Amino acid sequence: MFKSLNILDDTHKVLRQISKEVKFPISDEDKETIEHIIKHLTYSQIEEYSEKYDLRPGMGLAFPQLGELKRIIVIVHEYEEGKFKNYVVCNPKIVSNSTEIIAAEAGEGCLSVNREIEGHVPRYARVTIEGYDPDGNKIKIRAREELSIAFQHEIDHLNGILFYDKIDKKRPFFSEDEIRLI
Ligand code: ZN
Repeated sequence: MFKSLNILDDTHKVLRQISKEVKFPISDEDKETIEHIIKHLTYSQIEEYSEKYDLRPGMGLAFPQLGELKRIIVIVHEYEEGKFKNYVVCNPKIVSNSTEIIAAEAGEGCLSVNREIEGHVPRYARVTIEGYDPDGNKIKIRAREELSIAFQHEIDHLNGILFYDKIDKKRPFFSEDEIRLI
């Protein structure tokens, strides 16, 4: 029987704190949490299950959103209709980025923000991430477009940053010739 995760919303101060690097191998408990996150995120993106379990769709989650100040992020990316690829990165770092900036045209959402917040969040179009898998093996991921945005959004969580911090309050929307909207 699937039980949805207890995700903290942005009224919790823990979401504003800096998470700590993890040591390897991570604990069995943390590995179980990762499996639970993967299941939750996958189900949330499949209509049948999102309705059945009342899950808001989301493609990423960071450990601090569960109240655990550990530098672990999980992304479940639907790269093709009905096909998902999971990314689990411990102690992730952006080691390089494009100069090109993009933004999600419809804005970003967050499983810790239970309201609509309008505005474009400027993000690098492409990033290279380095980090470790749960056993401590070094990994390197190149991400572009939507996946690049997801990585930047989740890594921000590890530093206590929420997506709406990056929306210009006076001028929340960019035009197409300022940055590329996807
Ligand atoms: Zn988020």
